[in-house]
Amino acid sequence: SRHASDDLDARALSTLNHVFGLPGFRGHQEAIIRHVAHGGDCLVLMPTGGGKSLCYQLPALLRDGCGIVVSPLIALMRDQVAGLLEAGVRAAALNSSLSYAEADAIERQLLAGELDLLYVAPERLLTPRCLAMLARAKIALFAIDEAHCVSQWGHDFRPEYVGLSAIAEKFPNVPRIALTATADALTRREISERLGLTDAPCFVSSFDRPNIRYAIVDKQNAPAQLKAFIADKHMGHSGVVYCLSRAKVEDIADTLCKAGIDALPYHAGLPAEIRARNQDRFINEDGVVIVATIAFGMGIDKPDVRFVAHLDLPKSIEAYYQETGRAGRDGKPSDAWMAYGLSDIVQQRRMIDESSGSDAFKRVSMGKLDALVGLCESTACRRTRLLGYFGETALEPQCGNCDNCLSPPKVIDGTVAAQKLLSCAYRTGQRFGAQHLIDVLLGRLTERVGQFGHDKLSVFGIGGEFNEKQWRAVIRQLVSLGHLAPDSEAFGALKLTESSRAVLKGDAQVMLREQTGGRPPRAKSRRG
Ligand code: ADP
Ligand code: ZN
Repeated sequence: SRHASDDLDARALSTLNHVFGLPGFRGHQEAIIRHVAHGGDCLVLMPTGGGKSLCYQLPALLRDGCGIVVSPLIALMRDQVAGLLEAGVRAAALNSSLSYAEADAIERQLLAGELDLLYVAPERLLTPRCLAMLARAKIALFAIDEAHCVSQWGHDFRPEYVGLSAIAEKFPNVPRIALTATADALTRREISERLGLTDAPCFVSSFDRPNIRYAIVDKQNAPAQLKAFIADKHMGHSGVVYCLSRAKVEDIADTLCKAGIDALPYHAGLPAEIRARNQDRFINEDGVVIVATIAFGMGIDKPDVRFVAHLDLPKSIEAYYQETGRAGRDGKPSDAWMAYGLSDIVQQRRMIDESSGSDAFKRVSMGKLDALVGLCESTACRRTRLLGYFGETALEPQCGNCDNCLSPPKVIDGTVAAQKLLSCAYRTGQRFGAQHLIDVLLGRLTERVGQFGHDKLSVFGIGGEFNEKQWRAVIRQLVSLGHLAPDSEAFGALKLTESSRAVLKGDAQVMLREQTGGRPPRAKSRRG
């Protein structure tokens, strides 16, 4: 009734003020809270730092019974529970770190109606014992945090999340709210389907993080570039550096330390106590840089991370957004910086090819990778492109706070260069990688060139207008434009595609980002 609804709104506001100590709602919070408090299901997409927790904590307090929160990380649960207890909310967490007696005590509290919020790890929730206990308890709602973990094609798939579809079946009358900070259209659909939310509304907030400045640079000597970036803008600041491999993590941490930067490694291969110590130092001290694999970060709630740097390409735009999103949660100016090169594309493609996934999985993964490569190669505003990927139209086509907006790259007609490169790939049999093609174009008589007689080809030495670095950029852009493709059978080999022909015939123009810092075109083009 009208009266009950007014009453609920008043209670929501008063709980917000008095329990959470906040003056008002932000963005979609109010609409979400009202919807869930009235018993509705929904999917919530909100960027990191947007205030997702309140969307389930508050309705749990407004409704009868205990709110059950499914959360993948023990550390995250611990922080949330501590915060809630401090605010006077009766909260607890059930996870593998508890003794039997502790778990038993929490279960008794739940059944006695003495809990407002209970955090449960998914694998625990799905045990017959826990489900049976929940069936006997009064439940206010189910909140599924980090709901993208249910997506098999996402970047953070957790098998234990798949079983959560049981919640909708076993507790059809309890509202479900699924929350995530990252979901493209495909992931969104997967979450809805798996968690039984296909008929539920989806509340989508703006994913823009205006205080983050995006920059993606051409990878030359990544460690040196990273050192220069930190020395330039971030000495003494907290930051996260992401690398793909454990060996590289240790290597880069070492390099940074030698440059006087307080850097610590973090990866799954380190002993647990060292990992915990490094993470604690990062969280509690100022100016610590953590060099990590993607094992690091989810659930880390450090507001003053001033930069996130990627030395290797993430898997997808979602992963990139999520990882860079750990910068600047306090709203202050922060940097998302990435060094990217052709080898990144080749490496990620190989990882997909060699994965044990189905063909469909590989196809989707390749598509997601291609979208990210497109973002890297884009000469337009990075933010507009990033938000566009999540279905959001930017208000301004130029954000003014990304590398491309701040110093617009010059775009040149690269059709002739593209034709030279593609002919070179064609004439050498589409069996060679970037280095060999460049050697041929630059007229270098390497052992391999000689061995295959490629110095006899018409394309030998025709590429003197560019230097090696510029040719690499041309190749990368041709790959990202789809005119050239890494051969999935022969590692590193580049072959022509359907669209190469139009370029070779002169029917398609190829616009390329001009590479700065190389030798100016035309100088020293004679080979000697
Ligand atoms: P998320 O889970 O979406 O990353 P959190 O729920 O952790 O975000 O909230 C991020 C920060 O924003 C927290 O410090 C929280 O107290 C604050 N916050 C949330 N809602 C509001 C609000 N309505 N007004 C002011 N601060 C808020
Ligand atoms: Zn921009």
